[in-house]
Amino acid sequence: MDRFEPNLRIPGPTALPPSVREAGARQMINHRGPEFAAMLDRILTGMKPYFGTTSDIAIVTTAGTGGLEAAVVNTISPGDRVLGVSIGSFGDRFAKIARTYGADVTKLEAEWGYAAAADEIRERLRGLPGTKAVLLTHNETSTAVMNPIPELAAAIREEAPEALILVDSVSGLGAVPFEMDAWGVDVVVTGSQKAWMSAPGLAMIAASPRAWSAMETATAPRLYLDLRAHREAHAGGETPWTPAIAVVFQVDEGIRLMTAEGRENVFARHEACAAAARAGLVALGFELFADPAAASRTVTAANVPGDLDWKAFNGEVKRRGVVLAGGQGKLAGKIFRLGHLGSVTIEEILGAMSTLEMVSIGMGRSVRPGAAVAAAQVAALESYGVVTPAGVATPAAAGR
Ligand code: PLP
Repeated sequence: MDRFEPNLRIPGPTALPPSVREAGARQMINHRGPEFAAMLDRILTGMKPYFGTTSDIAIVTTAGTGGLEAAVVNTISPGDRVLGVSIGSFGDRFAKIARTYGADVTKLEAEWGYAAAADEIRERLRGLPGTKAVLLTHNETSTAVMNPIPELAAAIREEAPEALILVDSVSGLGAVPFEMDAWGVDVVVTGSQKAWMSAPGLAMIAASPRAWSAMETATAPRLYLDLRAHREAHAGGETPWTPAIAVVFQVDEGIRLMTAEGRENVFARHEACAAAARAGLVALGFELFADPAAASRTVTAANVPGDLDWKAFNGEVKRRGVVLAGGQGKLAGKIFRLGHLGSVTIEEILGAMSTLEMVSIGMGRSVRPGAAVAAAQVAALESYGVVTPAGVATPAAAGR
């Protein structure tokens, strides 16, 4: 653990590629000069396809939560009716922010482990005329569930055409397809420490034309997070306040790497890593937490078996260099999570599976050596559309 790089398998912050790490160590530059302006332009241009928008994006020096707060304070006024759709702890947080700023928030909660249902949102909106905004989580990191945003947004647009749709995609955007304009989404928030392979510190927030115009009449107090100030400064190649320049360097490099890899390849890699993680964990004898129909492509959660001494197991896994995440909120101690976003490779997932196998076998669990690695590898190959040789067990058949 001291001598070797850990295999950081948490759902953010994600491991930094070497060139991103080096970018963060660069000498400072004048953030009111041409070099910064060119960099900001590259980032904004490079990110737009990932948001699926031609609209303006703001880059704010803050954690992802600050990005969610920006989404709220810029579009919602105290007393506004808001529907907070929550499928886990980050959905709860989004609703809490709106409540904190005085919105009249109704919460619609799905059972943890499941996606939100379009019909339920539609029905709830029917009883909430004049709803100003609906809050959605794209990728609920606490439960490893991904919401079907196109379907949910379409239902909201149909039932409440005037309602703004604000989406937390802190742990989704950049790793999975998102088409903000085509789906009719109004605000999307992401964070530098997730798919963008950078350190924490920046939130990127895109707003639709109607969201930008809603900001002109919204009355919640705001100054640092006023997105209009960011947009105006960005037009001149600057940020309104001193940005986390080291993280800006990193995001610039992260996007350069993503562009070189190609957007579709980035998405395919995440899909393959997710398939590998799921198959490997199942082959290890773990039960996956999330509804398979809504499984996240950036994080996988599994139940901690009743007969497993989790503390001892995780301690040994960690000693061998694999860092997993535990459960959050009411899932603490009940699930563990394995992150696969950002710079993740199939080989890192296979390595993690190998470690989990070794530790499982060492603790006397009934696991066949190589089973999880094989299952994960086959799943990755299948995800990439590579036909596996005859005789190779498929993930479903790999069993335990
Ligand atoms: N929303 C989601 C879905 C997240 O996964 C996270 C962080 O893990 C956040 C919001 C909050 O981001 P931050 O911890 O940077 O404030």
